[in-house]
Amino acid sequence: MPELPEVETVRRGLAPALEGRVIAHVTQRRPDLRFPLPERFAERLTGRRVAHLGRRAKYILVHLEPAPGGEEEVLIMHLGMSGRFTIHGPNGKSAPGLFHLGMPGSETHDHIVFDMEDGTRIVYADHRRFGFMDLVSGAGLAASKHIAALGPEPLGNEFSAATLAERFRGRRTPVKAALLDQRNVAGLGNIYVCEALWRAGLSPKRSAASVAGPVRTERLAAAIRAVLTDAIAAGGSTLRDYAHTDGELGYFQHSFAVYDREGQACSKPDCTGTVRRIVQSARSTFYCPACQR
Ligand SMILES: [Zn+2]
Repeated sequence: MPELPEVETVRRGLAPALEGRVIAHVTQRRPDLRFPLPERFAERLTGRRVAHLGRRAKYILVHLEPAPGGEEEVLIMHLGMSGRFTIHGPNGKSAPGLFHLGMPGSETHDHIVFDMEDGTRIVYADHRRFGFMDLVSGAGLAASKHIAALGPEPLGNEFSAATLAERFRGRRTPVKAALLDQRNVAGLGNIYVCEALWRAGLSPKRSAASVAGPVRTERLAAAIRAVLTDAIAAGGSTLRDYAHTDGELGYFQHSFAVYDREGQACSKPDCTGTVRRIVQSARSTFYCPACQR
């Protein structure tokens, strides 16, 4: 399931094909993805120029210039578990930034096709259909149901040790669950929460309250930023590497320190521990009992 770094990589891959360009035609092959698509979805997007691509947590935000007499709107896109975009250049060949995210699909899962005025075609496929798209007014974006409840963006200025401390104080829930709660910090999923706790040397079984002091929140906030920044950099280099090939690109291969490494030696230099898997809130947690306390 794509988390913040993967979504940011997709945003960066899509930006050159969309920003400043006009959507000439939209093909909508079904009425819904995870949720029904907005009414007159294709019609409302047709002829609109894309101002820029943003991101909030795991949402890609396609900011559209106002239609004549209309208002700015934002196309909100969420990749769900298996959503992926493929970009085909105007000459029918793969374009820089062409990539696939998720499992290989087939044309039957190509649900939405955006044809740009310059001939570029952008295809959204999603074989499990947990992704969705919505269209909201620019003025209503912050208050929209997708965005309103989200906590601070972990790579933004509002996120800090202090904001974590404020949210963790007095909370008996495990710190892992608290980090997965999108109201506390936005965009983290199971993989990067495991990785951040490992980097911070904190046990996922600790209560959030026990991490709320200044030293541990500082370590945790720094670990979260570092793990996300590294993963985004890895995604960026993957995009660059594949820009000059035939373009088939898998969900980028990032090496994880603990995630999915049960039974392997901990890779921290001074640690002799072994990565263990436990189940918390019905999901696997990977951690090193020796150096995560
Ligand atoms: Zn260790």
